[in-house]
Amino acid sequence: MSDRVFSVILLPTSECNVACDYCFEHKEKHRLSRLMVPLLTKRLLEHMKHGGYEECEIYWQGGEAMLMGPQWFADTGAHMARAAHEAGKTFTHYLQTNLISYSSAWKEVILGLFQGELGTSMDYPNPHRKLFSGSAEGYTDIWTKRLKEAQRDGIEIGVIAVLHQGSIDIGAEAFYRYYTEELGLDNFQVNTPFPGGPANEVEGQFRLDNRELAAFLVELFDVWMERGFHSGVKLGPFDALMDHFQGQAARLPCIWKENCSNQFISVDSKGTVAQCDCWVTSYPEYFFGNIFQEPSLTRMLETSPARRAFVERPGRLVEDEDCLECRYLSICHGGCPVRAYSATGSLLKKDPYCEVYKAVFHTAETHAQKLLRRRKSSAPPDRVQPVLPSLGGALATSRRV
Ligand code: SF4
Ligand code: SF4
Ligand code: SF4
Repeated sequence: MSDRVFSVILLPTSECNVACDYCFEHKEKHRLSRLMVPLLTKRLLEHMKHGGYEECEIYWQGGEAMLMGPQWFADTGAHMARAAHEAGKTFTHYLQTNLISYSSAWKEVILGLFQGELGTSMDYPNPHRKLFSGSAEGYTDIWTKRLKEAQRDGIEIGVIAVLHQGSIDIGAEAFYRYYTEELGLDNFQVNTPFPGGPANEVEGQFRLDNRELAAFLVELFDVWMERGFHSGVKLGPFDALMDHFQGQAARLPCIWKENCSNQFISVDSKGTVAQCDCWVTSYPEYFFGNIFQEPSLTRMLETSPARRAFVERPGRLVEDEDCLECRYLSICHGGCPVRAYSATGSLLKKDPYCEVYKAVFHTAETHAQKLLRRRKSSAPPDRVQPVLPSLGGALATSRRV
């Protein structure tokens, strides 16, 4: 695995306190027991030692991670920090939550363990994220209230929006205004949808026409460049692409990593290990093993036949697909395995959003070239910024419908 970053998407429970139409979680009442945290920590630290990793990023999500309660996270974080300190390593924690059960009781642990930040999700418009009562409006109202409470508590919030036909129909302009003006956010990201797990009746609404989606994203990119880019609004993954095409270090999302299997694993509350949360919740045929039952995580990852398919994917794509001729291969690498798998039944296919990505890459490249030209022509000769080779992305947590 890469010696730069090791990231674990940890699902302490698959239970949830809401009922989104498109959820593919297998919602069980099972939770990660405090008794198992020391063993989990030990396995991760041993793997860090074998792999030469100094730091491990833990992305806590669910189900709904907040169902574990703030004290559970405070105790778990404290145990992991003590064990890491003894081993000369570091864990850095991040939280992804639906925010529905947020209260100020969370403030202390978020300001401490989670560095004052959290990630949450809201689509616009929101017809699919629903309370148990079936109300999407009720969900939006409660979520918005919790968002404001968390903002008042001094917490920095990043929001993930999963695009659907309604987003495209409402248009990029209104979409951008909702997040920046109505919610007052300066940090949000758009994700492309994909159906995970067994099919259900709303799945069809997430099969978007690639040309329409590309046009929406290109327009959104232009709106952001005009209004947000220069005033500090972060809109992922466009901001990372702008960094990349300007020759700066870029935190690209996992879908455009050289190979996501070099950096991520996901572990659920029972110890199941898979590539990411999408796989661990949806596709048992691609489980790597169990972190509690197998004595070495390193060995599990090295010998898992399921993982080998991920490791070999980029090589197979340049042989079997047209990625080798693509001018964006060095940034895209064939895209996301789970998006390919859920659309085609094979992770050895290129990402079905290929044409959408090309349109977005082209837009980013064009904007970046304009900026670089403007900067060059306005800077004195000895102050022209050198164009550094991209260091590649650091990390963006995977998200799905
Ligand atoms: S999509 Fe997430 S928030 Fe919605 S029901 Fe599923 S686990 Fe809960
Ligand atoms: S979402 Fe796709 S790219 Fe990201 S970790 Fe999962 S399979 Fe890999
Ligand atoms: S944009 Fe398409 S062709 Fe190019 S690398 Fe990505 S998946 Fe392959």
